[in-house]
Amino acid sequence: MISKNESFPDALSAEKKVVFVARKDLPALFDSLWTNGFRILGPTLGEGAIVYDELNGIGDLPIGWTDEQEGATYRLKKRDDEALFGYNVGPHAWKKFLFPPKHRLWSAEASNGLKITEEKQATQKYALFGVKACELKAILIQDKVFLGGEHVDPVYQARREDALLIAVNCTQAGKTCFCVSMDAGPRAESGFDLCLTEILKEGEHYFIVEIGSAQGAEIMANVPHSYETGEAEKTIQTITAKTAKQMGRVMDTENIQSLLQDNFDHPRWDDVASRCLTCANCTMACPTCFCSTVEDVTDITGNHAERWRQWDSCFTMDFTYMNHGHARASAKSRYRQWMTHKLSAWFDQFGTSGCVGCGRCITWCPVAIDITEEVSAIRESQTAAKPTSS
Ligand code: SF4
Ligand code: SF4
Repeated sequence: MISKNESFPDALSAEKKVVFVARKDLPALFDSLWTNGFRILGPTLGEGAIVYDELNGIGDLPIGWTDEQEGATYRLKKRDDEALFGYNVGPHAWKKFLFPPKHRLWSAEASNGLKITEEKQATQKYALFGVKACELKAILIQDKVFLGGEHVDPVYQARREDALLIAVNCTQAGKTCFCVSMDAGPRAESGFDLCLTEILKEGEHYFIVEIGSAQGAEIMANVPHSYETGEAEKTIQTITAKTAKQMGRVMDTENIQSLLQDNFDHPRWDDVASRCLTCANCTMACPTCFCSTVEDVTDITGNHAERWRQWDSCFTMDFTYMNHGHARASAKSRYRQWMTHKLSAWFDQFGTSGCVGCGRCITWCPVAIDITEEVSAIRESQTAAKPTSS
């Protein structure tokens, strides 16, 4: 509900961390981001899907569109309203901006002695606009991977440090979503600069905006808004609780680490291998997968060389190639590696699951392999094998 309009800045104090913004005033948020030097990246229609790209105005958002998803199925569909965020997640993950699919690390010239030039790190500030709760959690997981250890990744660090995260709470869930099982949604709890909840009912269209950082407050200083009158928290809870009930998939994560560790030779790995094409789609679409390789290229004279880093996958044959051959030559060993890393070994490495339940690997697998179904199959056979007490 929109009440009296007040203008910033009148100090966005700790007690005033939630405000209302009318739909008609949302362009002012874009203006404020541009004024503060940000380029805006967010959801837009492209390639027959809702993808992430640069936004040049509110009109670039997928207004009035939604998506329908199932295993190996994705369809765009018109909504019967003008919702800006009325869709689930698409094939792109935000990692494409923070951990680019292809990136030159250095170049070398051999014409006047050897000169090696390291690639300069990005200085452009980006606002990631429309980050869903599961995606926010995926970014926080990749923070641990790229920034958390002894060896910090400078490419990711430069992009991440200047990134402004504008989250959006999900008002609907798709048939391949299971973020509730992974404790990753549908509400964005922390880690954002701003978080929007879209309200579209009874002729009203507005946003509840939660402010999560000083920078978020600074951006909001130029956006017309009104202060919430006490009902915002309840409204957000009601909407996200309804979304939570719509999850199309569930994953039982109880003792999942030991379940997978204890079932290294389970026959289900042969079953899934007989269906898996080892195409690597699941790892490309996954917001937390981070494997990469490097490739050196030269020009035809041999005087100019470059080293590029590009995404790779545990599903490609060459990824584990060593002197003696491929460490994981079979589809069975590659699928097992991917799933047990995601759901088990990731805890040992990073203290968290590597899965946020976004469902992309189910939607974008060409043969509809479903990680939730694979876990269930192993778990059910274990339960069935347990002796009953008499
Ligand atoms: S494993 Fe699948 S469901 Fe989990 S985060 Fe990756 S793409 Fe999403
Ligand atoms: S599980 Fe599906 S998406 Fe992943 S490699 Fe196998 S066939 Fe491709």
